Amino acid sequence: MDPNYPKTLLEMEQQFATEDACRQYLRQLRWPSGFVCPGCQGEVGWPDRLHRWTCQRCRRQFTVTAGTIFEGTRLPLQVWFRAVWLVTSQKSGASALGLQRVLGLGSYETAWSWLHKLRRAMVRPGREGLKGTVEVDETFVGGVTPGAKGRDGEGKALVAIAAEQDGKGIGRIRLGRIPDASSASLHGFIQQAITPGSVVHTDGWAPYQGLEELGYAHSITRLKGKSKTAAAELLPRVHRVAALLKRWLLGTHQGAVSLKHLDYYLDEFTFRFNRRRSASRGKLFFRLLEQAVQISPVTYGEIVQQGTPHQ
Ligand SMILES: [Zn+2]
Repeated sequence: MDPNYPKTLLEMEQQFATEDACRQYLRQLRWPSGFVCPGCQGEVGWPDRLHRWTCQRCRRQFTVTAGTIFEGTRLPLQVWFRAVWLVTSQKSGASALGLQRVLGLGSYETAWSWLHKLRRAMVRPGREGLKGTVEVDETFVGGVTPGAKGRDGEGKALVAIAAEQDGKGIGRIRLGRIPDASSASLHGFIQQAITPGSVVHTDGWAPYQGLEELGYAHSITRLKGKSKTAAAELLPRVHRVAALLKRWLLGTHQGAVSLKHLDYYLDEFTFRFNRRRSASRGKLFFRLLEQAVQISPVTYGEIVQQGTPHQ
């Protein structure tokens, strides 16, 4: 479809001034070539005055938001669209408190769960793996001494980082929380993140060995000393990403990130980082809405099962 998206706040306000305009937009994103029944994949359906679509084949009824993160929402789509704009138009994103204040949401919990729902939409299903030469390393996040480098952190989460080499700069990245720095964990992350045939560049940590058998070329740079500067020079891209990630967690979220929810913050950071050169913030708005209608709904209850929100 034609990605017609707003380029400024004013355009967004004008384009999505009514509930109907929001619904139409989601319908175009979800069913670009016409209605497809979420139940039986039937392709013939018609809407009633309450915007419920009836499938001709199975006779079931669906709204355009059924099965998406917007399903069952009690607030107008117009408020959701403004939340998506806030999340995508600011370079570092929005905090739950900021979202609550700007949109006048009744509770912190609502803002918090909206941000988590949107984070779940930030991973595109079937996205392509990293390619070319890719640096890989791990770092600890959270805990009392952020930035500590080592492989035995306590009260911290271990995050694997993969960063494509793009000339002297960084291409795309992938982040993934791993339980430990074992061969199984590191190889598992690499297989998820990087397309076979690529060159994986790591330090001399023994568990990385064996990548050739998984279809990768392995380039190893061994540390001569134990200093942090040496590490940063050997794998400059992953170290730059690690520093930016920690700064973002401490800045935008003021370190108020529960390790239980870290995966979703990693997804948001990755979404932003990989689109950092996008000339138009409006395009991010479009992409996030597009992905938001492709995924399953999550309830507040399902999110807090993994932990409680906190300010
Ligand atoms: Zn059907």
